Amino acid sequence: MRKILVTGGRGMVGKALQHTPAAPGEMWVFVSSDDYDLTSQLDTINMFHEIRPNIVVHLAAKVGGVNGNNTKPADYFYDNLQINTNVLQCAHQYDVEKVVSILSTCIYPDDVKYPIKEEYLHNGEPHFTNYGYAYAKRMLEVQSRTLRAQHGRKYICLVPTNLYGPNDNFDLEGGHFVAALVRKMCDAKREGSPSITFWGDGSPLRQFTYVDNMAEAIIWAIDNYDGAAPLNVGRSFENSISELVQMAATSVGYEGDIIWDTTKPIGQYKKTVCMGNLRKAGYEEIFESTGAGIRKTCEWYQANYPNVRGL
Ligand code: NDP
Repeated sequence: MRKILVTGGRGMVGKALQHTPAAPGEMWVFVSSDDYDLTSQLDTINMFHEIRPNIVVHLAAKVGGVNGNNTKPADYFYDNLQINTNVLQCAHQYDVEKVVSILSTCIYPDDVKYPIKEEYLHNGEPHFTNYGYAYAKRMLEVQSRTLRAQHGRKYICLVPTNLYGPNDNFDLEGGHFVAALVRKMCDAKREGSPSITFWGDGSPLRQFTYVDNMAEAIIWAIDNYDGAAPLNVGRSFENSISELVQMAATSVGYEGDIIWDTTKPIGQYKKTVCMGNLRKAGYEEIFESTGAGIRKTCEWYQANYPNVRGL
């Protein structure tokens, strides 16, 4: 029997993992901040002492959208640095054989060559809006590397693109773009609003990955990726923001006006990430199309409204 501990196990990615049936001989334990505050070293030691995992999937993080990251960089830096340092050091001390940690493509340097490869991770400043979160996440990669160099630990890092899906945080201020889009569109349809306004002109391109696909990649990585280098994970296809808005409108049958407020910033035009190493590592799962993923997320939001996170 191998015991797999999932920190942040009741967040969006954790819930997607919970829906995946455990393989024979495996026991999965999902914990959240209600069980242990991982910014506390004592709580983290207690967690490892009580659960005694063989493997850790480390998802716990202070996660937020542009606004939260931009206005509270000190909180995002401190909490994430504490959580990551505690979890990795304890994993080593409790002889955990494998840790799968999750970085994010938003922590790559802002001024970078495209497509973005894993080896560029430390080659420059992250975007100024999320540098607290980004530097703390980059140290997760550094800590994993040091434990591998000094103690031979197979602690790996995956780097997902923008994730979205059921159980996301639908708070308009604290959440990510797709969750805010789904909420705005479903609410406008329900309330019969004549128009919805979005910032910018809808032209920026992004790579989006449906959360169930991220859960599948994590399960694959536990037994199939041991590399020292972090590994980009996600669907390589890019969609424009305006395409996403149209997909959400079609999914919910919204027929009002879509207004683009071009007085507001459009953000970085693109952040294309290279998935070449994921394919080289042998990952062959098929990713959900963005249209299908957005439709499922809208359906989930409508079925669960108003009992969704962030409302
Ligand atoms: P969520 O915000 O949905 O979940 C985060 C989890 O971390 C929650 O279970 C939360 O517990 C837990 N947590 C936060 N603070 C603490 C703490 N102090 N002690 C213990 N647990 C804590 O995040 P996601 O599921 O979206 O993200 C999972 C991972 O993927 C994160 O590491 C994130 O950085 C990364 N990632 C996410 C992306 C995205 O687009 N969402 C993109 C790229 C990477 P509780 O539920 O009790 O609050």
